[in-house]
Amino acid sequence: MQLYNKLSAKERAELIDKAGKDRLTISFYQYYKIKDPQVFRDQLYINWDKLDVLGRIYVSFEGINAQLSVPAENFKTFKADLDCISFLENVRLNVAVEHDNKSFLKLKVKVRDKIVSDGLNDDTFDVTDIGVHLKAEEFNEMLADPNTVCVDMRNHYESEIGHFKGAIRPDVDTFRDSLDIIEEDLKNHKEDKNLLMYCTGGIRCEKASAYFKHKGFKNVFQLEGGIIEYTRQTKSEGVENKFIGKNFVFDHRRAERISDDVVSQCHQCGEPCDEHVNCDNEACHLLFIQCKSCSEKMNTCCSDTCKNIASLPFVEQKTLRKGKGNSNKIFKKGRSEVLKFKK
Ligand SMILES: [Zn+2]
Ligand SMILES: [Zn+2]
Repeated sequence: MQLYNKLSAKERAELIDKAGKDRLTISFYQYYKIKDPQVFRDQLYINWDKLDVLGRIYVSFEGINAQLSVPAENFKTFKADLDCISFLENVRLNVAVEHDNKSFLKLKVKVRDKIVSDGLNDDTFDVTDIGVHLKAEEFNEMLADPNTVCVDMRNHYESEIGHFKGAIRPDVDTFRDSLDIIEEDLKNHKEDKNLLMYCTGGIRCEKASAYFKHKGFKNVFQLEGGIIEYTRQTKSEGVENKFIGKNFVFDHRRAERISDDVVSQCHQCGEPCDEHVNCDNEACHLLFIQCKSCSEKMNTCCSDTCKNIASLPFVEQKTLRKGKGNSNKIFKKGRSEVLKFKK
């Protein structure tokens, strides 16, 4: 049996267009001790391939983290399949606000050490002793409490384009870094303040809240289902939206617009802008914010150097890259000396 994706992204995109059917973009996760991740992975692949599911799914000994798209007409079957897996019965499915039939173009189910790369040694604390889950309305109430410190658990390039008003946004490249910074900042308030946290879909807060409780924080709360579920509740239940800007997501859409506010700026000219692009020089591929006029002027590149390289014939670009295979890794995501407006 064929257990790996064979179609190219382009072939898949054509198939989706031809089918002309609506697809839902969904994410979910569950911490659970899976005995044999490889067997579980193969079974998922077989089931989901049949349902024409596409996406990026991580399976590990600690659970599952899935971001995927499923044809709307297969959703019921997909959900029924999940409910047959004991630890996924009634798991909360985050359904994307914005519609995009091509949010994913391949089905990739991977076995990993962890379902989120968190840089933590799990043996040191109890990952099941998590904070209190809050619904959108409860979250708003706590956010308004002067005794609350609200923290964004995402990385800098995510919180840059959208966040809750008044939230602390650690300027970090990794989840692990943010934990230390937050603990240091709040070390004198472990008992008297409410530590209120949020992330994209809730998964990072599961780990973070357990970590902070282990570190002695007494009042730890987290937004259930993250920004995605919060937004769904504000729309369907009329709860006031306190999130400004866009929610960064990890599929082809890159972000969902939540409010009309543009809270970031073009990294090249400083104009208000919240469009992420990847530098068009394949050897660079830097993720940064670029406005339309800079994109035209720079051919969607981050620098003159990249613009020159990207304009060369492909063969020449390849020769240039030889021996510098990892040149794109010298840049951190969303940061570079060449960007005037990204300190
Ligand atoms: Zn610009
Ligand atoms: Zn570049």
